Amino acid sequence: LPVQIKCLPVEKEQTLIVVKPDGVQRRLIGQIIQRFEQRGFKLVGLKMLQVSEDLLSQHYCQLTSKPFYPRLMEYMTSGPVVVMVWEGHKVIQSSRMMVGHTNPAEAQAGTVRGDFSLHVSRNVVHASDSLEAALREIQLWFPGKELLNWDCIDQYITCEA
Ligand code: GDP
Ligand code: MG
Repeated sequence: LPVQIKCLPVEKEQTLIVVKPDGVQRRLIGQIIQRFEQRGFKLVGLKMLQVSEDLLSQHYCQLTSKPFYPRLMEYMTSGPVVVMVWEGHKVIQSSRMMVGHTNPAEAQAGTVRGDFSLHVSRNVVHASDSLEAALREIQLWFPGKELLNWDCIDQYITCEA
């Protein structure tokens, strides 16, 4: 009898995650990546860089009038960051849940901010907050054809068995 193969539609939703300078300095890169991998998301882009003020001002263009904006710029340029694109079913919404409330004091235990941070000025990680933001931020941080399109081998093992 032929093996019945059930196919799910491919989910191509993507989001931008940034391990901020405090996350890098506190050696949290691995733990943050692990959470996204174990949830089932697919890593399609990854790089470490020192952010320019130009890129950062575009990334946070909606916050320029906030009183904390100069401090935010100083924080985000204080050392290298790790920026990633993760892909999968409802990854934008799920990532926001996994990252937790902007203010770590209000972030649930079990979230990245709730587990690893205390103060809004050092909240370890960024996650796109909407589809529009994700598209804009991914284009900004990964211009051109830097993202990879790859298939998980575990999708094929069943077919060959
Ligand atoms: P997010 O989407 O949860 O990261 O939050 P926002 O988009 O509102 O703000 C962007 C980032 O600015 C936050 O993650 C914080 O790092 C920083 N930020 C937000 N509010 C404050 C604040 O009141 N004080 C300071 N120092 N930083 C803030
Ligand atoms: Mg935001």
